[in-house]
Amino acid sequence: MRFTVQLIICADDGRSDTTHDVAVLEKDCQRIEQLGLTLAEAKQLLTQLQQHLVARQATAFVTTRSQCEACGTPLRMKEQTTRTIRTLFGTVVLASPRLYHCRCRARKTTTFRPLSVLLTESTTPELLFMETKWASLISYGMTARVLKDFLPLDETLNATTVQNHPLAVAQHCEEELGEEQEVCVDGCPGDSGRGHQKAGEVFFLGRIGHTMGIPWTGGLPHMKFTVQLVAWTDTGQVEPGQEGAGLEKESERVAHRGVTLAAATQLLKRLQHQMVERQTTAYLAARAHCQACGRARRVKEQTRRTIRPLFGTVVLTSPRLRHCRCRTRMTTTFRPLRALLPESTTPELRFRETKWASVISYGMTARVLKDFLPLDETLNASTVQNHTLAVAQRCEEE
Ligand SMILES: [Zn+2]
Ligand SMILES: [Zn+2]
Repeated sequence: MRFTVQLIICADDGRSDTTHDVAVLEKDCQRIEQLGLTLAEAKQLLTQLQQHLVARQATAFVTTRSQCEACGTPLRMKEQTTRTIRTLFGTVVLASPRLYHCRCRARKTTTFRPLSVLLTESTTPELLFMETKWASLISYGMTARVLKDFLPLDETLNATTVQNHPLAVAQHCEEELGEEQEVCVDGCPGDSGRGHQKAGEVFFLGRIGHTMGIPWTGGLPHMKFTVQLVAWTDTGQVEPGQEGAGLEKESERVAHRGVTLAAATQLLKRLQHQMVERQTTAYLAARAHCQACGRARRVKEQTRRTIRPLFGTVVLTSPRLRHCRCRTRMTTTFRPLRALLPESTTPELRFRETKWASVISYGMTARVLKDFLPLDETLNASTVQNHTLAVAQRCEEE
C-alpha cells in the first residue's frame, strides 16, 4: 500500500499553485508495527514540509523587494549569499541575494539584503524555548538527547550548544509565546483536498497558515499551504468525489509566530488517523471471505477497538465475524483485528516510554512524551510506570 503526503502551495494571485510530494510511504498492513507513521517518517516529513514552506515564503518576499520602491526599476544583484535558520523542524538554508540600491535617490548604503529585513533571528523562539525549558528540568546532555529523539534536529546539537542559550532569552520567549500558542492547522478528515488528477484517494489534512514557528517580521506575500494524504489504490482507479473543498476559508487566527509544535503534531495525528483507518480497512477486506471456500463471512456485530500509536489514540471499528461452516471450528465467531492488534499500544510507543523511563523519572517521561507527541492527557507517572513494568515482566518471562 502506497501513501504520498503532498504539500500544495497556493499564492494569492491563484496562478502559482504548486504541489510537492513531501513523503512517499510504502506501508504494509500485516503487523501492528506497520500501522501509521514511525517517528523517523514523521521527522522526515516535517523537515521536508518546513524546507518547502520557508524557502517558498523567502523567495516570494525577496521577489517583492527586487524592484525600487520609488521608481520601480529592477534592482541589480551584487552577490548571492545564504542565510541559515534553526527551527524546531530542522535547519533551513535560504538563498539570500545582496542587491544594489537604486540610484534614484541618495541612501546611506549601496547594497542591502532583503531577507535580513524579514528574518531578524537565526534560531526560532520556539526552539530556544524548548531547549531552555527542558534544560531547566533535566541535564543539558539529556535535553539534547530528548530534542534529537523527537525533533528532526541536527546531529551537532549537544550539551554545550544547549547550555549556550541563555535562560534570559527563553524567559523572554515564554512571555511572548504565552497567549500566542495557537493551533493553526484546520480542516477535518471529511474534507477532501483540491481536485486531483492522479488515481488515488485524497484525504485533506489541513491548511498551514504560516510557516512552522518562523519569526518572520511581517511583510510576507499571502500564501496558503495545504497538506493532503493520497492513498494509492493497487489498481490505480480514480476514487470519485475528490473535487471541492475550497481553500477560500482562511486560517484566520494565524499569529505572528506561525504554526507551532502543537500544530505540527496535530497534523501528524490526523495523518496517522487516516493511514491507520485505511490500513485496517485493507486488512479486514482481505479477511472478509472464507479462505477455504471463498464464501463471504457474515458480520455478527460491530465492536470497537482502541489502539495507542505514537501520534494519538485511534478508535477503530472491529467486526466480529461468523466462521464459515464449511469446516468445524472450536469457536463460532472471531474478530480479525485481534490478530493484527495483539496489544493496544504500538511497539514504538512502548519502546519510547521504556527507553525514557530508564534514563529519567516516570513523571518526566510522561511530560516529555506529552510535550512532543499528541498523546492523551491521561498519561502520567503511574501509567508510564505500569507500562514499563509490564514490558519488564514480559522480557523476564521470555
Ligand atoms: Zn529608483
Ligand atoms: Zn468456507
